[in-house]
Amino acid sequence: MNEDHEVFIAPGSGFCKGVAFAVQKALDVAKNKKEGSVFLDGELVHNRAVGERLYAQGIRPLQRNSKIHGGDTILIRAHGISPKRRLFLEHFGCKIEDCTCPLVRKISRIMEANRHRQIILLGDRNHPEIEGLCGYAENIRVCENLKELSQLIAEVCQNKKTDKNFLDNKNFKGTENWIMLCQSTLDMDFLEAAKNLCGEKNFSVEIFDTICSATKRRQSGLEVLKDCDAVIVVGGFHSANTKRLFEKMKRQVAAVFWIEKVGDLAPINWRIYPKIGIAAGASTPQSAMENIYGEISKKIA
Ligand code: SF4
Repeated sequence: MNEDHEVFIAPGSGFCKGVAFAVQKALDVAKNKKEGSVFLDGELVHNRAVGERLYAQGIRPLQRNSKIHGGDTILIRAHGISPKRRLFLEHFGCKIEDCTCPLVRKISRIMEANRHRQIILLGDRNHPEIEGLCGYAENIRVCENLKELSQLIAEVCQNKKTDKNFLDNKNFKGTENWIMLCQSTLDMDFLEAAKNLCGEKNFSVEIFDTICSATKRRQSGLEVLKDCDAVIVVGGFHSANTKRLFEKMKRQVAAVFWIEKVGDLAPINWRIYPKIGIAAGASTPQSAMENIYGEISKKIA
């Protein structure tokens, strides 16, 4: 690298403890398996390289036509599953190894303990974590953005005014007794804005900040990248937390590239960017970041 150029990795980037735990557990199960096969229910984590590594160790995706025997093992993904899905897996009669991140499990315990209250869940409704969590309680409304939250509050307030039960046909009753939780990888700014909105509208809700500490570290780590001329965000194209990193950086830096692996680096003259930052999602292995750091350093040397 020359004196006019700088490349650095944002603090908190890469594998979080939950992902490291899930990957290690899956690899250990595969390594110690004396007989039978190991199946994975869904994606362990959202990273293709990790998926390929698991496949190389003999771990296969659980499919409709998979033939499961008593000696086999099914792995539960890091994002967790609903109790109903777990029951379904148990009916195969084989061993189940739970790779759910303990912090996601903690959110599901809060949901369960409050299962009879009205629950607002902030996050992506199609994300496996949210899909799994929705199985732990009854009266849940998922809000993906402030507009949806605002509409929900308006419905509740309207009901208050007309003194009717709120959304009777969906089992939502009354306007009190609401709680709010969030996806573990939610954007901290979204939670803050949601809190403010509830305050402004006098919407009485008990708020649980369930964004995990790894996500908070990762999002705060982006601060050091805001003065960069270009930022490379590394992570799976369907990883929720990588998408949030990418969107956040796009609001602050003109040139932002989202790649999965070193081979995706754009064939451009990287020397036009004096200061290049690298940030990575929670399911991105350290080795992927190091490869990219090495490659960029060569390109600007
Ligand atoms: S991002 Fe947080 S909740 Fe998700 S796997 Fe990592 S540590 Fe667990």
